[in-house]
Amino acid sequence: MYSALNEIGSANKRKDKDEKPSYEIEGLFKPLMKNGKFKVILRFLPAKVGDGDEIPWVENRIHLFQLENGQWFGCDCVGKFKDKDLKCPICEYNSKVWNKYGKTKEARDRVLGKWKPKYYSNVYIVKNENQPDTEGKVFRLEYSRAIMGFITDAIADKKDDETGQIIPGINPFSYYGPNDKCVLSGDEKAGANFVWEGIQDTNGPSYKTSHFNNPRRICKHAADDKLYDMTDDEIEAVDAQLYTLKDIEIPKEKYRSYNAIVESYNKKSGKNLFEEFADGSEDYAATTKSAAPMNIQTTTVNDDEIFGTASQPQKMSTPSFTESASSMPFDEDETSTSTQASVTTVDDSDDFFAKLANS
Ligand SMILES: [Zn+2]
Repeated sequence: MYSALNEIGSANKRKDKDEKPSYEIEGLFKPLMKNGKFKVILRFLPAKVGDGDEIPWVENRIHLFQLENGQWFGCDCVGKFKDKDLKCPICEYNSKVWNKYGKTKEARDRVLGKWKPKYYSNVYIVKNENQPDTEGKVFRLEYSRAIMGFITDAIADKKDDETGQIIPGINPFSYYGPNDKCVLSGDEKAGANFVWEGIQDTNGPSYKTSHFNNPRRICKHAADDKLYDMTDDEIEAVDAQLYTLKDIEIPKEKYRSYNAIVESYNKKSGKNLFEEFADGSEDYAATTKSAAPMNIQTTTVNDDEIFGTASQPQKMSTPSFTESASSMPFDEDETSTSTQASVTTVDDSDDFFAKLANS
């Protein structure tokens, strides 16, 4: 089973002989910085049909932060399911801190690393000067909240302030352009190429200048350096190469239990996570109880194994999960956990479809 945190582990820690190391995602695309930058024109692709994938991306959430004693603690976060019977103790602890101290420095000093999403989609690489051998191929892309922000923004309709006219949003995962029948008939929204630009900044790569180009049919980069719309047959050939995303998404039953995470935290930090709130905390008692059925021995993250290695990230800011696996960090971290709700996230598939439908 894939866990985002597994990427941090060193290959030597894996003892499986027959299985591939679980942190290796087949067909994963990673951009390559050259002279401090990269520019990749890519197309997000729809979900693989008939595979049970309903939406064109999957999300895992993870916590990773440094303890006072300098060790790193990480766990997958079950919060995305919005299931009242599944609680993430780290999120629960943080919300207790915010409730008790408000938005104060005291609270900011006490909260633990907020969860971060990792999204995965199929993409077609149209043009990539730094790695021309990736052009014309389908990959799976891991991306952060910042890139998802571009997607959700592109989906939304916008209003022209001068004319009052609506500038329709796009479906970033569509093969088709404004002149295709399915778009003209209103059955589908047009897609567009995404220009993913990364510039090396002091805090990691910045993607600020990335953007969607004008809507058009999926296209390919030809030898004459021009982009040509694909034929229906070429689209079919791309469609046939789509990866499933299901094997990346961590299913509910594979998460470490609430109790196991608390115990691991306590052991590693040398203190009781809920000590401050333990007196008469009904929430804690209740969640501990309700989390019991999840107490399955299917640990996806053994942080003792993963974080106890010399390969742990050294910088103080929250590190990206790909950092030790490659030299290409993907996350432009939030600077701290100081704000809880200021960042755009897509909470679930319903939100995604609602945004597409209503826009
Ligand atoms: Zn959490």
